[in-house]
Amino acid sequence: MSVQQQEVDLRRTFAIISHPDAGKTTITEKVLLFGQALQKAGTVKGKKSGQHAKSDWMEMEKDRGISITTSVMQFPYNDCLVNLLDTPGHEDFSEDTYRTLTAVDSCLMVIDVAKGVEARTIKLMEVTRLRDTPIITFMNKMDRDVRDPMEVMDEVEDILKIKCSPITWPIGMGKEFKGVYNILTDETILYKSGQGHTIQEKRVIKGLDNPELEQAIGNYADDLREEMELVLGASHEFNLDEFLKGELTPVFFGTALGNFGVDHMLDGLTKWAPKPLPRVTDTRTVHAEEDKFSGFIFKIQANMDPKHRDRIAFMRICSGKYEKGMKMRQVRINKDVRIADAVTFMAGDRANVEQAYSGDIIGLHNHGSIQIGDTFTEGEMMKFSGIPNFAPEMFRRIRLRDPLKAKQLQKGLIQLSEEGAVQVFRPLNNNDMIVGAVGVLQFEVVVHRLKNEYNVDAIYEPISVATARWVACDDAKTFEEFKKKASDNLALDGGDNLTYVAPTMVNLNLAQERYPKIEFLKTREH
Ligand code: GDP
Repeated sequence: MSVQQQEVDLRRTFAIISHPDAGKTTITEKVLLFGQALQKAGTVKGKKSGQHAKSDWMEMEKDRGISITTSVMQFPYNDCLVNLLDTPGHEDFSEDTYRTLTAVDSCLMVIDVAKGVEARTIKLMEVTRLRDTPIITFMNKMDRDVRDPMEVMDEVEDILKIKCSPITWPIGMGKEFKGVYNILTDETILYKSGQGHTIQEKRVIKGLDNPELEQAIGNYADDLREEMELVLGASHEFNLDEFLKGELTPVFFGTALGNFGVDHMLDGLTKWAPKPLPRVTDTRTVHAEEDKFSGFIFKIQANMDPKHRDRIAFMRICSGKYEKGMKMRQVRINKDVRIADAVTFMAGDRANVEQAYSGDIIGLHNHGSIQIGDTFTEGEMMKFSGIPNFAPEMFRRIRLRDPLKAKQLQKGLIQLSEEGAVQVFRPLNNNDMIVGAVGVLQFEVVVHRLKNEYNVDAIYEPISVATARWVACDDAKTFEEFKKKASDNLALDGGDNLTYVAPTMVNLNLAQERYPKIEFLKTREH
């Protein structure tokens, strides 16, 4: 087997999707604890203790105790090398989250069993559906008084339209949470509270009929036997093919805070989740096992290190191997660059990488020439597809305090939009600059960065824009006519793509009825 093949086989690259507060940060902490990347869990994000996450970079995050950036952590587990891409939990940064989901091969969905399926999980699942990403489910907070696990599993099936296959099943809940029964191995794994900060010694009772079960969990033993009959009858058997197609999710129960069950989930992930998958380009499909290097940029992060004021472009390697000092071609501008200082993200600390393989994420220093969606190769002219822009949901008009700085403002906004920090729209028929965002915090970041990086003082004004759609049409004549008639509602985005800017949703609906041949697109590929 080639070295490339061996390295590919080792890798699992995933992200966590969840509603805020479901426990993503806590799980990340425990996952890293298992990965031995951190000596002691508790340093990922200390909302309360005042310690700050190793994965939180920007000062704004510290002030607010939220995670804005997407960071990457690599750690070994069960003979695998796992890449965990952290996604901002705060909904204001969902656009980054969406794009991060294009750079992974599987996702962990975390559900708070007290709450069930929540809004953001629904939205994020929609995004994973674009690529049928395999989903592993962790049902969290079993140490609390939660809802009936069966009911929550049904809810996942109904709302998220994915079959559930419980791998473990919980015994009791809240103060009476006793552990889980593993259906595949026929083992009961016992829970002991108050050990959340350590890797617990595994206490296992083999066999559901084992009398030791009575000694360990008393009356719960009989209940469990009865319940398991029901559960097995009412749920789906695990099927690897269906999992890999994104049609079925293996379900694990536990408590991240109590550090119980996270390792079961990681066992499942390393065993079943796909190794780096093939990716589609405009010319062909690229396989992870290929020797020649290729990758694409899914995120650009500014000022991760305030001392250096640098921007890091995050690249998912799709094939071949990165080696320090190698020459890569940036396909969009057809230019070769030598990269000697790519960074990797071992537990949030940056260090220079010597080598990285398919499935890994590396960070390139960006001095302004790299854009989201850019493809890098060893010379082949191709472009990875499927890195989307999402239609913004909030809009403001941006105005200068000093009107002489219009050029800088435009330059700054266009660069920020190329980075994906925000979207900008310039109406065809007036001189407004409209800023569009998926979340309100993006607006603040933009004003902050305009001032710091472009020396431009800008303020916002409300504007009555409800939504925007990229427009396209196969028929040139119809398109020209549309452009003339609808010009008051048309604008160019940061990449000069034509956009229909609608004052109200009713407006959009009317336009769609009136111009049936025009496509109004909610996402646009870079
Ligand atoms: P995130 O917003 O998804 O990153 O959620 P966090 O990991 O920050 O968790 C939100 C809150 O739930 C925090 O107060 C955690 O301590 C708490 N929490 C997380 N997991 C558990 C759990 O298994 N049991 C209990 N009781 N609380 C938990």
